[in-house]
Amino acid sequence: MFSLFVVCYLLSLKNIFCTIIFARTKFYMENTYGDRMSYDLIIIGAGPGGLTAGIYARSRMMSTLIIDAAEVGGQLVSLYPDKAIQNYPGFERIQARKLSDRLYAQVESLGCEIKDKEKVIDIMDSDEKLVVITDKDEYHTHSVIVATGMGMFRPKKIGCKGEDKFENKGLYYILPPKEELIGKNVIVFGGGNSAVEMALIADSVTSTTIVHRRDELRCDESNTIALKDSSIRTVMSSELVSVNGDDSVRSVTLKKGDETFDTEADIVVILIGISSDLEDLKRWDLELTESGLVKVDNAMRTSRNGIFACGDAVDYEGKYKQITTACGEAATAANSAYKFVKKPYWA
Ligand code: NAP
Repeated sequence: MFSLFVVCYLLSLKNIFCTIIFARTKFYMENTYGDRMSYDLIIIGAGPGGLTAGIYARSRMMSTLIIDAAEVGGQLVSLYPDKAIQNYPGFERIQARKLSDRLYAQVESLGCEIKDKEKVIDIMDSDEKLVVITDKDEYHTHSVIVATGMGMFRPKKIGCKGEDKFENKGLYYILPPKEELIGKNVIVFGGGNSAVEMALIADSVTSTTIVHRRDELRCDESNTIALKDSSIRTVMSSELVSVNGDDSVRSVTLKKGDETFDTEADIVVILIGISSDLEDLKRWDLELTESGLVKVDNAMRTSRNGIFACGDAVDYEGKYKQITTACGEAATAANSAYKFVKKPYWA
């Protein structure tokens, strides 16, 4: 009789435990896979565009998740975090990483959820919602903003002899950290803002040359003036024929008109623009422009219902690639997503 009582008692205890465990699991599942995994808006990309979209979405109290395949900050941290940005309103100069940190802090304080090092594989249609599938999970959302920036884009190759052989062994597509440049002969190729700004950084620590294929640069005038005021050697109207060396880079061969000549070099940096990697964008079934970027209308709507885009990933007539324009497009994209999801009376 006593042992029957003990068995019953243990069974009732087991039931209580089971109930608690069941309730807790249900609570966890609901919060994890119910509310937490379903959003008003998912932003793909945590560069300045994606983070700004997050700020605007939260001002509308949209439940928002930002996912980035790499780290938060986009080009601000991946290209040259120490670079001083001089055309972001409100700051005469701000270090790229600091601007990224400020945007990150602002977005977090407003209640955006952020997941980094998580790659979006697909965006699928499902009933009224979209399903964003990553390499780690899947999330339901009413809308998506593609703000992948250069994330899916690679630096353009110049196509000269020795380029592949010396890649990452003296030849780079991003300026190496300043400490690694000291005492070296750096040669930067390109005539845009990226090439001139990186040459100016290199010049602050070492002997630097910039080589451009035309007789004029295409960078901002303020950069042209800074270049003139620096000790950078400029070689205009010249093309790169080959990068030469043995285990490491020793020189480059340049061609100017009919003349071919060698110049000493330890580090070659090629900054001639970017080309897009269309695979993801094609898989996401977004209509692209001739340049391979996402086609958007004035409201930053893409060809897919509920999917918007902004920043370096998009192209349209008059597009001007700047941090501030990416932020402006992001505000428009977030507002469009809000109107799409919440359908306010005034929209
Ligand atoms: P970019 O403005 O497109 O300039 C690329 C440069 O590389 C051009 O001078 C081009 O020469 C040259 N080039 C292209 N292909 C070449 C080849 N095969 N061989 C030799 N030279 C070649 O690229 P970016 O400097 O990377 O800038 C990209 C965008 O971001 C631009 O809109 C830029 O204004 C913006 N940006 C802005 C800032 C800022 O506001 N501070 C900073 C960085 C970037 P050609 O002129 O002859 O075509």
